[in-house]
Amino acid sequence: MSTTDRLLPPQEALDIVFREVNERLPAEQVHLHDAGGRILAEPLVADRDLPPFPASTMDGFAVIADDVSPWREIIGDQYAGDMLDIEITEGTAARIMTGAPVPKGANTVVPVENTELRDDHVIINDDELREGVNIRPVGSDLRSGDILIEAGAVIGPAEVGLLASLGHARVNVVRKPRVSVLSTGDELVEPDQEPGPGQIRDSNRFSLKVAAEAFGCDVIYCGHGPDDEDSLRTLVGDLIGRSDVVITSGGVSVGEKDLLKSLFMELGNVHFQRLYMKPGKPLNFMTTGQTLVFGLPGNPVSALVGFEVFIKTALRIITGQPHPAPRLATVRLAEPVQGSDRIEYMRAVVTSDDQGALWARTTGPQQSARLMSMVGANAFVQIAPRDHDYQPDEVVEAIILAPVTGSEPRP
Ligand code: AMP
Ligand code: MG
Repeated sequence: MSTTDRLLPPQEALDIVFREVNERLPAEQVHLHDAGGRILAEPLVADRDLPPFPASTMDGFAVIADDVSPWREIIGDQYAGDMLDIEITEGTAARIMTGAPVPKGANTVVPVENTELRDDHVIINDDELREGVNIRPVGSDLRSGDILIEAGAVIGPAEVGLLASLGHARVNVVRKPRVSVLSTGDELVEPDQEPGPGQIRDSNRFSLKVAAEAFGCDVIYCGHGPDDEDSLRTLVGDLIGRSDVVITSGGVSVGEKDLLKSLFMELGNVHFQRLYMKPGKPLNFMTTGQTLVFGLPGNPVSALVGFEVFIKTALRIITGQPHPAPRLATVRLAEPVQGSDRIEYMRAVVTSDDQGALWARTTGPQQSARLMSMVGANAFVQIAPRDHDYQPDEVVEAIILAPVTGSEPRP
């Protein structure tokens, strides 16, 4: 496999993810109560016009626009929720409420503020009545046959409201990806344990679980394995059998105890193992059957960068989202940045200035073990290799991870 022995540029690795990952997960039905945040599995098509009747947008009187009668007899009170069997003719009016159907014959609604009552008559203080005013015509919100929401859209407040108004009490959504998270390493202890000499607490397992859950995955396993070949073979084999995506951390570098790399070769088709990127060089991607396996490096930042760039892309593909690739933006460096020997994913805070230009500042020292470099970062600025430093104001590309907030004056 030629792509496993050379350092693969991250874009080529993403291309491989796109090539290898092309099936969407199956759909399942959920009740509207549980549909928020889920992904629509099929387009939502309007099967009727909305509103289904001409509806008043005001509390007032339904009348005929070019009726010149000095006053009009009120022949009914039309509330929202029923439909009176009346017809408005010259010299008559119906009291009408917002959302109520406009009675037959009427073609405009006069707001109550522009009227005066005399016994059971109404006088209209508006001599320029126009047809259609204050009425939502049939189909003005949506028309039968319209594609309202494409498959792959995330169901938010507006989407769920449309589903409800069209009578979809249950909705077909993409099944949540079943994800397993396995951290490996003999040095790892649990967060509630005091690390002994040479030991550290396992943090990746929790970071990756939260990252997967934040995406909308069902994390079906989150555990820790030793640096032992047989145990890992059994563990990973079992997880592959019941997961859509298996995420491991650690054990993919070139050390004696980095056992996952060869295990992946044994268990499936390895598509890449070493990337021309920093952090995250020893990132493994393997597939077997329908299961995707990502072997992330153990350093906490490398693991999260790998998740954001490659695993999220794969998750967006298998959940049928329309734009699976990482979202790029052009940003300017707000401070000098050192060149690197590999494409560096510099953790940064991107803000916009008062003219809308985006500026990136690093989150501080960028070592791959320093989780603090991820805290507060809303972008990875892609720093291409070069032997001299980047200067403030230079234009570079960044992967945007979270909304760009705040603004600051131009530096
Ligand atoms: P490895 O990729 O296994 O060589 O690990 C690289 C570095 O990441 C080592 O310093 C490990 O101790 C550290 N590391 C590995 N796994 C974890 C983890 N789950 N949580 C925190 N640090 C880890
Ligand atoms: Mg290790």
